Amino acid sequence: MDFFTGIRPLLFSYVLINGILITLQTKEEVLLDMKATGGELGWLTWPLDQGDKLGWEVVQRTLNGSQFYTYSVCNVGEREQDNWLRTTFIQRRPSASRVFVELQFIVRDCNSFDGTSLTCKETFNLFTSESDADVGTTFRKGQFKKVATIAPDEITSKNELRINTETRVVENLSRKGFYLAFQDIGACIALLSVRVYYKTCPATVKSLASFPETVAGGENQALREVNGVCVDNAISEELPRIYCTVDGEWVVPVGQCQCKPGYEEVKDVCQECQAGFFKAATSSDKCEPCPANTQRQDSGALFCPCMYGFYRAPTDPPTGPCSGLPSAPRDLVATTTSAGKLLLTWSPPEDTGGRNDITYSIECQRCEGTACQPCGEKIRYEPASTGLTDTKVSVSELDAHLNYTFTVEAHSGVSLFMSDAEPRANKPPSTSALTTSLLYTDPPKITTMRLVERSSTSLSLSWDVSPRPRVQHRPIRYELTYCKKDDNLDVTTFIVLKQEKNFAQINDLAPGTAYLFRVQAFSSDGSAGGSSMEEQFETLLGEQSNSTAIIIAAVGGATMLFIVAMVLFVRRRKRNSHTRQGAEDTYFSSSEQLKPLKTYVDPHTYEDPNTAVLKFATEIHPSHITKQKVIGAGEFGEVYRGILKVPGRKEVAVAIKTLKPGYTEKQRQDFLSEASIMGQFSHQNIIRLEGVVTKCKDFFKHAMIVTEYMENGALDRYLRDHDGEFASFQLVGMLRGIAAGMKYLSDMSYVHRDLAARNILVNNTLECKVSDFGLSRVLEDDPEGTYTTSGGKIPIRWTAPEAIAYRKFTSASDVWSFGIVMWEVMAFGERPYWDMSNHEVMKAINEAFRLPAPMDCPSAVYQLMLQCWLQDRSKRPRFGDIVNLLDKLLRSPDSLKTIADFDPRVSIRLPSTSGSDGSPFRSVSEWLESIKMSQYSENFTCAGVVTMDQVLQMKNEDIKNIGVRLPGHLKRIAYSILGLKDQTSTLSVFAV
Ligand code: AMP
Repeated sequence: MDFFTGIRPLLFSYVLINGILITLQTKEEVLLDMKATGGELGWLTWPLDQGDKLGWEVVQRTLNGSQFYTYSVCNVGEREQDNWLRTTFIQRRPSASRVFVELQFIVRDCNSFDGTSLTCKETFNLFTSESDADVGTTFRKGQFKKVATIAPDEITSKNELRINTETRVVENLSRKGFYLAFQDIGACIALLSVRVYYKTCPATVKSLASFPETVAGGENQALREVNGVCVDNAISEELPRIYCTVDGEWVVPVGQCQCKPGYEEVKDVCQECQAGFFKAATSSDKCEPCPANTQRQDSGALFCPCMYGFYRAPTDPPTGPCSGLPSAPRDLVATTTSAGKLLLTWSPPEDTGGRNDITYSIECQRCEGTACQPCGEKIRYEPASTGLTDTKVSVSELDAHLNYTFTVEAHSGVSLFMSDAEPRANKPPSTSALTTSLLYTDPPKITTMRLVERSSTSLSLSWDVSPRPRVQHRPIRYELTYCKKDDNLDVTTFIVLKQEKNFAQINDLAPGTAYLFRVQAFSSDGSAGGSSMEEQFETLLGEQSNSTAIIIAAVGGATMLFIVAMVLFVRRRKRNSHTRQGAEDTYFSSSEQLKPLKTYVDPHTYEDPNTAVLKFATEIHPSHITKQKVIGAGEFGEVYRGILKVPGRKEVAVAIKTLKPGYTEKQRQDFLSEASIMGQFSHQNIIRLEGVVTKCKDFFKHAMIVTEYMENGALDRYLRDHDGEFASFQLVGMLRGIAAGMKYLSDMSYVHRDLAARNILVNNTLECKVSDFGLSRVLEDDPEGTYTTSGGKIPIRWTAPEAIAYRKFTSASDVWSFGIVMWEVMAFGERPYWDMSNHEVMKAINEAFRLPAPMDCPSAVYQLMLQCWLQDRSKRPRFGDIVNLLDKLLRSPDSLKTIADFDPRVSIRLPSTSGSDGSPFRSVSEWLESIKMSQYSENFTCAGVVTMDQVLQMKNEDIKNIGVRLPGHLKRIAYSILGLKDQTSTLSVFAV
């Protein structure tokens, strides 16, 4: 029977047209294309001669002048059909060990053959056979391996033609070529197209490194590592590398090439800097225009030298502008401030030479008549006479009645440089100075003060003054200040007496009491001279002395009591006003109470993301929130601990995420998207959203997301801070909580994509909750995120291979990440894969290595981790299975007693027999640091263990005796010593 018997010819034309219209995919290298051959295909059919039993037949059709060959077979009425159709020899390209076979075919519905279809089938088989040479017409069934049974998705009835397209992968090809064969076992089939191709990552230039075209996949490798070469005039510290995914996409480039000095990146090549531009270093920066006051250079310049008369200071970058010398300071003024002292002030130079490191120096000359000489060292300058950055200086210790000439000079970084490096003759006008002179009047100074006479109630004092007053400069008054010596600070009274003579009698003093005195003289022009030293004099003892002291003490005590009472009163008032303000607040709008949804709704499905926030989150009035303390930094702003007090509800501790000012609308939406997502969840192990602040008037200051407060913060940090302090069942309890939260999320079809211990929060009952939800955030905010070539960011060491290779993020990839979280938890917050680079991690995973068991990890828990890290994601356990298993382990604590094999050298990632550079540890502290046990350095030193030889002699008892008590720490140190004794340094990860 002919396949097309009874099928309308019109439809068949459609099939072919449709076939032609199917376009070739990009990045594919075609090895065989049945339709494109356009002539006789020469495929072998078997059995060769069947009499009137027909096997596969070639059918030639013409459409629009082109010829097409199709193969069909339709022996539905016959029993035991075994008809083979074999392609010609398909040459394999070296390294294309994995090819795709795309078939287009039609299968007739068995029911459309009334009564003749007893043995009718609706499938056929695809086989392949490898060979190093074309074997011509020799055909042996036994040499063919079955690839797949091909079944149609849609079968063709009499009236409706249905074309099926199926693609199968043929892997592990290694010989020079291969054949495909199609085995019919009694179906009615038309094979319209067979296309054999393999995928390649096309030759590309990424980060200035060129990578050759690379065949994707092969030998079960999802990712193929490819080395690149820096383009001309670019160099790289690290060999540039990249991965080619099975889908022909480049991901995760490593090792950036950068253009050499004098070159910049222009569209994937390094081009010489244009004339007038320069680039000094190997970097990704662009060439920069020659800076101010430099000479323009020809193309490819590494730097631009200074123009004549301009300089760079030694501290200036060779890439910066050059500057000239500053001009003179302006408006120099001298003002007398007090005896022997004057203040010089000036304005900065008009031309600073383009610099901001201007300093000033002062020179002083004293002149009598026309004879001037340097002032010498007696003169004091405050703050200094050179290196001044302020435009003023105070000059003291000046003598009266002399002419002083002060010269102020401006300097800059280049003038200093000039004086050292170039002959003065080359300098442009260099002295930048102004001169002023003044006749200085010296105010008098008090030199000595003495007690002339005393009684129980009075003291008589006199003092000397220098220089001795001349008639025209006589001091006209003195100020005598005194107080009781022992007065309480709060009640000290200074009494000031103004005197015209250098003598005073003070009466009405307390008997037997010490007083402190100080005198200051003022000259006729009002300028103040220096004060005398403070002097102490005591009145003679009298009868009233005791009672006076008691009264003073009583007054002091009462004052203190009064102050304390006032402080308490003010504080209470403040607190009262605060509570009142809270009680009066009435603003509170609440959205509909949300019950958990069955399926998570992506807030992006809402045209206006604000609608999603309104729907899923409760609006809170900002006055109900009190921020107490910053506890962390989120992507958008600080995270605070605080209190939420909604009227009529109990006060609760909350975490408040804020949006820092100056954000864009997109950032605002991203910020709020976390609330829209979190608001849809309601589970014990998912962080609970209390609400958002988006609507209040002052929204720009107050945008917030308010969640329940988790006292112990992020899980990774918490475990690191409590290393070794929890038993296995407590850690497994934490994991159970996380798994339950993840089960809830996966049941709601939410894929987290960034599950890691840093994104789990812990409360004060050690309950763990999943947090960090966001939309476009996919990892934008995660410091672990690494960019892929397609622009996304992926935290490589937490992410499943298929998610890295072709962004297949599913709950199964979340399960992989959960396995990593299990490892982080059991290793007390250790960094997965330690200090291996992302590149090394991907390579190791690709080569089927997995993290080894952490120390003391129950075997059952480690087995579960390994299950989560199965390459085939369909074989990984689901979160439901994980919760069940962890529950089981928790119910029978004995199940946690069997500990997984542990290799201390591997698991603690010690360079166990050596320091990081391969040499033995040089000191005990270096060794302790490498196993993160530095806190015990002192214990070792105090116990006299100061060399590594001594360390190697230590037994467990010794370690305990020097003060290492925590079991986890004890083990870590003991295991490390064990590893040190065994002088073999082994692999860094564990092969499965
Ligand atoms: P995130 O932006 O969510 O990564 O938060 C930044 C940091 O703030 C976290 O690492 C935690 O230390 C802290 N944090 C965030 N949410 C909470 C919370 N609900 N309770 C306690 N600390 C939190």
